[in-house]
Amino acid sequence: MTGITIALSKGRIFDETLPLLAAAGIVPVENPETSRKLIIGTNRDDVRVVIVRATDVPTYVQYGAADLGVAGKDVLIEHGGEGLYQPLDLNIAKCKMMVAVPEGFDYARAVRQGARLKVASKYIKTAREHFAAKGVHVDLIKLYGSMELAPLAGLADAIVDLVSTGGTLKANKLVAVEEIMPISSRLVVNQAALKLKRETLAPILDAFAGAVKKD
Ligand code: ATP
Ligand code: MG
Repeated sequence: MTGITIALSKGRIFDETLPLLAAAGIVPVENPETSRKLIIGTNRDDVRVVIVRATDVPTYVQYGAADLGVAGKDVLIEHGGEGLYQPLDLNIAKCKMMVAVPEGFDYARAVRQGARLKVASKYIKTAREHFAAKGVHVDLIKLYGSMELAPLAGLADAIVDLVSTGGTLKANKLVAVEEIMPISSRLVVNQAALKLKRETLAPILDAFAGAVKKD
């Protein structure tokens, strides 16, 4: 098999990867928002796109079911990055990983007083490392979505989530109190494919690198 399979998630990652693919001369023939197909052809016979959940992109690439993919730094940290070559920050799907609490909750004071905090998140590994580095004791509660609900429903004191405009936090009477790290999406490449398919992959990687927009 000399063809190339690219793993992408629907939504902002697919949309923001399109110009980079175009720079490599690759144009998907369908839009995953309107098509139900999970395997999408491109203008090139030797390149196809598979549409997977954002958190599943590293797994497809790690096992070689996809040769390359685009995944958020948030997702890559939780995955661990095993078997993945990460040559490029694509500077797309940018946001921040933040700690947020209900309006009126004095987070700084709770931390100062050494309180034990209940923290809900999809990003358990990132959250654990962040609070361990700060010396804050936390009970971490794993969630799979709608983190904003957790403090409102009394499940947690704080959440660790991605924030871009802050609109969702505000709508739920939460405030961001601490930035953990800036997030953007990265190109990930299967390490074996990089060697075995170098001739096909190298020009694609070069085109991506040349098309990345700097701040
Ligand atoms: P779903 O929303 O279907 O549960 P998801 O949250 O995993 O799935 P997206 O919301 O499309 O999928 O997020 C995909 C990636 O885009 C995330 O892993 C992250 O890197 C980035 N991202 C998430 N939220 C934002 C945001 N508000 N602004 C910019 N980038 C974001
Ligand atoms: Mg989402």
